[in-house]
Amino acid sequence: MNIEITSFPVAPLGCTCSILKDKITGETIVVDPGGEGPKIIALLEEKGCRVRYIIHTHAHFDHVLGTHDVANHCRSRNQTPDVRLHPGDQFLYKMLAKQCGWFGLPPAQPIEVMADMSDNEEFSFGGHKLTVLHTPGHTPGSCSFHLANEGILFSGDTLFAGGIGRTDLPGGDYSQIMTSIKERLLTLDEGTTVIPGHGDFTRIFEEKQLNPFL
Ligand SMILES: [Zn+2]
Ligand SMILES: [Zn+2]
Repeated sequence: MNIEITSFPVAPLGCTCSILKDKITGETIVVDPGGEGPKIIALLEEKGCRVRYIIHTHAHFDHVLGTHDVANHCRSRNQTPDVRLHPGDQFLYKMLAKQCGWFGLPPAQPIEVMADMSDNEEFSFGGHKLTVLHTPGHTPGSCSFHLANEGILFSGDTLFAGGIGRTDLPGGDYSQIMTSIKERLLTLDEGTTVIPGHGDFTRIFEEKQLNPFL
């Protein structure tokens, strides 16, 4: 495949940030720049990325804290990244400072306006397409991103290796997350590699067989 995918955890909570780069054109999508902006920027520079989209699986603070730095860096390099969030999570983004307080962190203000994205929307980079799957439950606007041709799913905090996202924070809904996982994720090809918002990678068939929450 001529996509280079780099996924790595970023502080403060080990959110998985992913950089998806088309090797031919350099066009890139950044998923969940959750913190450590300078580290993400250094990687984008090193790889010669041209960022077309910065997209978010949801608006918990640990998935958005690096957005401002990364977006501004791209603009300083004459790139015009399209910054996106599902509208169901705009309320969480507006209360970013309060969210930091829940975890005892110093307040952070929303620092970047995010445009909406919708279920089944496709983001193109190089010759590739990443498809939005709206998978509410962890938060109302939680989304997963499917790179169908490569058999890769970015599942955010909806599905983890051996776990599912918590639903006890504002806007969380247990029956919704179960429906999202069963109807939108477990129906994907069983060999699909799952890159969750935290922790180890997994595969759809492993979660079907082994995940004690499903
Ligand atoms: Zn998270
Ligand atoms: Zn979360």
